[in-house]
Amino acid sequence: MKTPVVELGDCILCGICIEVAPSVFKLSSAGYIEISELPVYPETEVDEAIKNCPTDCISWDGK
Ligand code: SF4
Repeated sequence: MKTPVVELGDCILCGICIEVAPSVFKLSSAGYIEISELPVYPETEVDEAIKNCPTDCISWDGK
């Protein structure tokens, strides 16, 4: 299954991914971006987040 991953070292916590795909990306209590556990990830929304992430730190893992 394709799963989005965030390279946390490059994330600047701009919040764009949460705005674009709130069902997928969330801010953890520790203050970093976390991927929600979903049976299937909405490809269009995640692709939109990937496109808009200012540091290009979101990618798809697996297939
Ligand atoms: S869009 Fe990219 S840089 Fe911004 S919070 Fe999400 S993962 Fe981090």
